[in-house]
Amino acid sequence: MNRIVQLTPLPLPAGYTPPTDIAIEPAFDAAALDAVDPTDVVALVTHSIRGVPSDVWGRFPDLRLVANFGVGLDRIDLDQAKQHGVAVSYTPDHLTADVADLAITLTLDLLRRVPAADAFVRRNGWSEGPFGLGTSAKGRRVGIIGLGRIGKAIAARAAAFGMEVGYTARAAKPAEPLAFFASTRDLAAWADVLIAAVPGGADTDRMIDAEVLAALGMTGLFVNVARSSVVDEDALVAALKEGIIAGAGVELFEAASTLPSRLTDQNVIFTPHIGSATFQTRSAMADSVFDNVRAALKGEAFTDLAV
Ligand code: NAP
Repeated sequence: MNRIVQLTPLPLPAGYTPPTDIAIEPAFDAAALDAVDPTDVVALVTHSIRGVPSDVWGRFPDLRLVANFGVGLDRIDLDQAKQHGVAVSYTPDHLTADVADLAITLTLDLLRRVPAADAFVRRNGWSEGPFGLGTSAKGRRVGIIGLGRIGKAIAARAAAFGMEVGYTARAAKPAEPLAFFASTRDLAAWADVLIAAVPGGADTDRMIDAEVLAALGMTGLFVNVARSSVVDEDALVAALKEGIIAGAGVELFEAASTLPSRLTDQNVIFTPHIGSATFQTRSAMADSVFDNVRAALKGEAFTDLAV
C-alpha cells in the first residue's frame, strides 16, 4: 500500500481542515525518520525551512514525489531529486501576492516611521512636540534584488505608489520596462529602498554585505523578504548602529536569531516569516501540497512542479 511520510509540521492555518482521505506518517526528526519502514513510501511532505536532509535521498526506493510547502528550494537538492527520479512540487504562485504585500508594507512603515509613531502615541509623547516627519513613497527609487515572481509583484505595487523601480537579477529582462543594474552594489547606490527577493543558497549567500549597505547610504532603507542567508548580519547590525543606512525591515526565519536583541531601535521592523501567513494563502498552499500527495497515492500527474 502506498504511504506518505511528513518530515516536519506544516504551518496550516487555524480552521483549515486537512483531507481525511490521506494518511500521513509523521517523522519530524532524524530518529523518527530512521524508524520509518521505507517500503512503499511514495511521497515525502516537507516545508521550505526543513527541506530534505541530504541522507534521505536513496532511502526510499519507491519515492516519486517531494511535496514542499513553500517556494524556497534551497534546502532541497534538486540534482539529487533528478538523479533519483523524484519530482519536487512547491507552492509558487499561491503566495506571490502576499509576500509582495509584506515587502511593500515594511517599506511604507519604514518610510512613514510607523513603529516610532506608534511608540510616540503609547508613551503619550505629545508633550515632546510634534512627531517628526517621514518620507514620501511617491518619487522614491525602489531597487529590487531578484525580479522573479515575487520581485515582479513588488515592482507592480511600488509603481502603483508612484515609486521608480530598478532591479538586478542573473539576467536582464528586456520585456520589463524597468532599469536593470548588473550588480547589487550599483542597484543599491541608485536606490532609496533596496528590497531582497532572491532565493537562498550558495549563489546568494551574504550578497547584501557591508559594501552594498554603504552604497545604499545613510538615507537608504533595506527590506528583506528573502532568506536570512542573503544578508551579512554583522554588516547589517553595524550599518544600522553606525547610521550607514537609515532603517531596515527584516523577515526572520530562525527563532534563535540574535538580530532582534542586537537591533532594538524603532528604525528596524522584524516579522517572524509571515510573508505567506494569511488564511487564504496558507490554505491554498496546503491544498496544493495535499492535491499532489493524493496524486502520488493514485499514480496521477503532479502540479506546481519545480523538477
Ligand atoms: P523566482 O521566481 O525563482 O525568482 C527569483 C529571482 O531571483 C529571479 O529573478 C532570479 O534571476 C533572481 N536570482 C537568482 N539568483 C540570483 C543571483 N545569484 N543574483 C541575482 N539574482 C538572482 O522566485 P520567487 O517565487 O520570486 O521567490 C524568491 C524567494 O523569495 C524564494 O526563493 C524564497 O527564498 C523567498 N520567499 C520568501 C517568503 C517569505 O515568506 N518571506 C515566501 C516565499 C518565498 P533570473 O530571473 O535572472 O533567473
